[in-house]
Amino acid sequence: MQPIKPKELEPKSRIAGFEEVVFCYTEEEALKEARRCVQCKDPTCISGCPVGIDIKKFIKRIIKKDYKGAYLTIKEKNDFPSICGRVCPAEYQCRKACVFTKKGEPFASGKSINIHFLERFVGDWGLHSSLRGAEGDEAISKDEIASRPFPPHASYGGTPPYACNGGAGARKDMIGKKVAVVGSGPAGLCCAGELARGGVSVTIFESLHKTGGVLRYGIPPFRLPQGVLDFEINCLKKLGVQIVPNVIIGKGKTLDELFKEEYSAIFLGLGAGTPSFLKLAGENLCNVYSANEFLTRVNLMGAYKFPESHTPVNVGKAVVVIGGGNTAIDAARVALRLQKINNIEPNVSIFYRRTEIEMPARRLEIWHAKEEGIKFKLLTQPIGFSGDDKGHLRKIQCLSCQLGEPDSSGRRRPVPMEGSEFEADCDLAIVAVGLNANQLLTKETPSLKVDKWGDIEVNSETMETSVKNIYAGGDIVGGEGTVIEAMGMAKKAAKTILERLPRNSKS
Ligand code: FAD
Repeated sequence: MQPIKPKELEPKSRIAGFEEVVFCYTEEEALKEARRCVQCKDPTCISGCPVGIDIKKFIKRIIKKDYKGAYLTIKEKNDFPSICGRVCPAEYQCRKACVFTKKGEPFASGKSINIHFLERFVGDWGLHSSLRGAEGDEAISKDEIASRPFPPHASYGGTPPYACNGGAGARKDMIGKKVAVVGSGPAGLCCAGELARGGVSVTIFESLHKTGGVLRYGIPPFRLPQGVLDFEINCLKKLGVQIVPNVIIGKGKTLDELFKEEYSAIFLGLGAGTPSFLKLAGENLCNVYSANEFLTRVNLMGAYKFPESHTPVNVGKAVVVIGGGNTAIDAARVALRLQKINNIEPNVSIFYRRTEIEMPARRLEIWHAKEEGIKFKLLTQPIGFSGDDKGHLRKIQCLSCQLGEPDSSGRRRPVPMEGSEFEADCDLAIVAVGLNANQLLTKETPSLKVDKWGDIEVNSETMETSVKNIYAGGDIVGGEGTVIEAMGMAKKAAKTILERLPRNSKS
């Protein structure tokens, strides 16, 4: 049977706004896709999932139309199925390990089971079941969760009947124990959930005014509607997790102060929020943005609806995004939508030093970007920017490249070609060439050991840092990764904390 693709908004209509692009499977589609799974005796797909979801079991539950069972199976390992079902780079993870992908392929075969779409179907089942009260296990109606895009910016406050699994594993010896979590990205949220379910009293401290980390300020709502994120965060609140926004730990409050407030352990999920730059002439001209700033202005601060919102963003006529990861593709697709909303002829290009196959972005997003009309200028390396007499960006200078030998990342190195210099029009450039550790806290806490990139050093089994009772995980450990990898580390840390809390505890 052919793989089942979910429906999508048409490219022409979707670039006029921020509506979610990919629809949820209908029940019929989910059943068809689930039935393609051959239920391997020794399923390889599970080894491709950083949190070890029992993929075979949850798909079997779908086949039996036991959606509650499927939901609870995923929730055993993954708190956020509706999020991961939307953003996981499954083609490099579980789908790549699927028996339908040949060994040695760079990413999953198109024939591999669409595990992520099935996960989303089940996650959204949980989400929608909350709309009906606690009747989540009644027979699902055909169009109940199907083809219903989420409002991209609406806040969703439903109470999920099965999502929280509140207190099921709560231990008596944890009563009264307090743990602080710094950062509310996927690592912090996941760690908080694990601890709260264990019976610990958890407080998340977040420097921004909203929770979610990159899920909120980086990934645009046409990929991850904010309402879905609100739903998952609501689950944590139902478990008793306290969230304190607008506090920078290391500035407003130190780690020592947290210990003095009787927190027995601290988990650091600080992320990699510091953008890298190209260090090129002209990079400080007006209208050269880092992708992080650009996306934060739009996604978090609502620049797409300026002047209703307080934060504007420049919308260029010739936009160049530099980079080949998810951040670059997201920035390009956001810029294109802003042009469309502002009645500017869409003109967005991605400049990338290697070829498409080496691009680290999710394949689906690359495909969507192309469908939407974003131009890909590959094997192209910027070497400078130039502007007008008012200091505004006007041109970008580049060299063409060819691929050389593989570098330490295993990808073939881009080698600039002599005499290939060219110039292109560009009045808005968005630099998306990587993210580094957020060092606000570590610089204030010299006892925390960091590596040469500023990432926190941990014991990779326990996620302990160099300071007793402080743990870390996510992008602040080992650099920019994925949502599910951040969650995998957070789960490990939570496990250690739960094991050690009774004996290490001050309270
Ligand atoms: P973050 O999500 O960065 O969260 C860290 C949080 O800590 C932030 O909210 C920050 O404000 C807060 N914080 C930092 N310092 C302090 C402090 N001192 N005090 C209080 N709070 C603090 N991954 C995927 O799997 N799929 C994708 O499709 C995908 N797309 C991406 C698109 C973009 C634009 C970006 C930037 C990344 C993307 N990623 C994707 C990567 C993924 O989002 C990250 O790997 C993940 O968010 C890391 O989680 P985290 O919790 O470690 O950090």
